[in-house]
Amino acid sequence: MRPFELTAPSTVEAALAGTGTYVAGGTTLVDLMKLNVLTPLHVLDINALPLRGIHSVDGLRFGALERMSDIAAHPRVYPMISRALLLSASQQLRNMASIGGNLLQRTRCGYFRDVAMPCNKREPGSGCPAATGANRMHAILGTSDSCVATHASDVAVALVALDTEVRLVSAQEARTVKLADFYRMPGDTPGLENDLRPGELITEVIVPRLDWAQQSTYVKVRDRRSYEFALCSAAVALHIQDSRIVDARVAVGGVATVPWRLRQVEAALRGAPPTVTAFEQAAGVAAEGAKPLPGNGFKVSLLKRTIVRALLEVTDGSRT
Ligand code: SF4
Repeated sequence: MRPFELTAPSTVEAALAGTGTYVAGGTTLVDLMKLNVLTPLHVLDINALPLRGIHSVDGLRFGALERMSDIAAHPRVYPMISRALLLSASQQLRNMASIGGNLLQRTRCGYFRDVAMPCNKREPGSGCPAATGANRMHAILGTSDSCVATHASDVAVALVALDTEVRLVSAQEARTVKLADFYRMPGDTPGLENDLRPGELITEVIVPRLDWAQQSTYVKVRDRRSYEFALCSAAVALHIQDSRIVDARVAVGGVATVPWRLRQVEAALRGAPPTVTAFEQAAGVAAEGAKPLPGNGFKVSLLKRTIVRALLEVTDGSRT
């Protein structure tokens, strides 16, 4: 790890007036600093800022410094959010990691984390060894010739399904943007992963009210049962009335360069009966536009099966 200067502002104004890299739980930043992937000269510890609180009146609002474990344990949090949080990382990490930091976590691509290797995301123009190398964990949706890395966050998948917004504040302005618009696909600039501007801070995460999201879940398929990133995941919510699906939310992770909303699957579910056959038909369009790599072609069928499993889970698996 390279030497760096550490300061700990106690107000949002002081934090925004400073220059440097913000750190909250440190579960991504410190990791990458130890690997010399990130080498900030100045780090601003923002843990003393008044950015806590979980409010559940007319939707959900999380202060950006709320810990993952506290949000997961809150009784009013929609099941797809709490399950996504509980299936993320270890209990120790969930106790430390903030919701704001979770949304900004970097990819787990092994080449990105190894400074001995080229990587367009870390060093623009150096190349993407994952395109022809070890790419079993990589994306099949939203990729470009420059980068095929997946987005690592579980809870971001659930939050995108729920039309969540983030509040962003800088010394100049405050703005609110949809999380789905906040993330950027790699294109020719894979180093730019989101719309966060220099000096900007996430202060709040805002989940609109959606009462029927109480009937929701998050399914995560991975190589081992704990402390592992997703090969494929699905956040789904279903609004069922009179044995018909009135509305649906579906987003997936582990297969795309950003948390991936599947509006075509949602449209296929609307008006259908909540049956296995209808779930399979709807999931059949999930992989439209997918570009599998030599090592991850299995994700095309895994994606469909994960969505069906999540839909069955949210209907108690009792549909025939
Ligand atoms: Fe780097 Fe992206 Fe290629 Fe991984 S997939 S090596 S992060 S450019």
